[in-house]
Amino acid sequence: MIYLDNNATTRVAPEVVAAMQPYLTEFYGNPSSAHSLGRKMKTAVESAREQVAKLLVAADASEIVFTSCGSESDNWAIRGVLEENPGKKHIVTTLVEHEAVRNLCARLEGQGYEVTWLEVDGKGELDLESLRAALRPDTALVSVMLANNETGVLFPVDEIGRIVRANSSALFHVDGVQAVGKIPINLSELQVDLFAISGHKLHAPQGVGALYVKSGVKLAPFIIGGSQESGRRGGTSAVPNIVALGAACELAASPEGHELVRRLRDLLEDEILSHIPNASLNGTPDRTKRLPNTSNISFEYVEGENILAHLNEAGISVSTGSACHSTTRESSPTLRAMNVPYTAAQGSIRFSLGRYNSEQDVEETLRVLPGIIEKLVKMSPYDKELRALYAARG
Ligand code: PLP
Repeated sequence: MIYLDNNATTRVAPEVVAAMQPYLTEFYGNPSSAHSLGRKMKTAVESAREQVAKLLVAADASEIVFTSCGSESDNWAIRGVLEENPGKKHIVTTLVEHEAVRNLCARLEGQGYEVTWLEVDGKGELDLESLRAALRPDTALVSVMLANNETGVLFPVDEIGRIVRANSSALFHVDGVQAVGKIPINLSELQVDLFAISGHKLHAPQGVGALYVKSGVKLAPFIIGGSQESGRRGGTSAVPNIVALGAACELAASPEGHELVRRLRDLLEDEILSHIPNASLNGTPDRTKRLPNTSNISFEYVEGENILAHLNEAGISVSTGSACHSTTRESSPTLRAMNVPYTAAQGSIRFSLGRYNSEQDVEETLRVLPGIIEKLVKMSPYDKELRALYAARG
């Protein structure tokens, strides 16, 4: 199987399995217990906290709080800030956030909050002037992603943080879920108050995440319970998963594999764009402004779902940029916000590579994909336009 869907989830790294294994078998204590088994678990949690803090370059490990997933981290950041600031009813976010932020903000709109939805341009980039203009004295929070899960486009969170600080008293939350493990992060250099991460995007198992909460930032608890995580997040710690997240962060910090991913992604993208006539890139062509592992490519006039099914049959796993509903086919909100024409958005495929991909994976994909697209083009109701396109591009 050729797995090119690493933005959806990643394979758990063998090093990570090895690190968590003893905590599934030998060491089963509750980290809140006072006996030695409990203390052993507590020590494991604290050293994982150090590993996460090190990858993110947080000033102190106490700024890292473990959660169950990226969505929990995002929800907690947003709701926690709002609860602490009852007088402030305004939120600034973007139209291209992950559902964990987008759907929560939409829900909050129905609960007395006002949300400013920042737009993006055709390349998926934000206009920072509109961000500046959106800030108000009653803005509680600005929530922006670092890397878009569909296109890989990076938002300049360094500059956004400076704008937020200079022009408002709002807190700044960054959804870093897709970025961590793929590009270097240095939170001590950013004006960021909250930062969400998720283990399964960087070779830890599903079911663990973390929220960075800058020292001094007041955040109401999301899960109210015992004194775990210094009273900030109740619930018995998922020690094996937390240990795994720590090990995954350590693995991500090593330079090994990162360059290969970038080279393979570049090769895949260049070859597709130069050899398939109806292919076009979604997201900025400037690769310094995109994740090094992601290519979102539209094959105009062809259904993404069909491409996915054919690739799947050939043993290649990818994602589409459209969601199939029972009665309609909707393009992704991200591609819609970028004004990608419907005929292209419907045929968009996200290729997301990872550390276990090889040159052969890319070669095999490049071998089968053109034939699949050509076959689907022949079946396309837009056949006439397509034939003209193919003829024009030779
Ligand atoms: N934020 C972004 C940008 C994501 O891509 C995802 C998952 O795809 C999430 C948040 C949610 O993370 P999780 O799946 O751990 O809840």
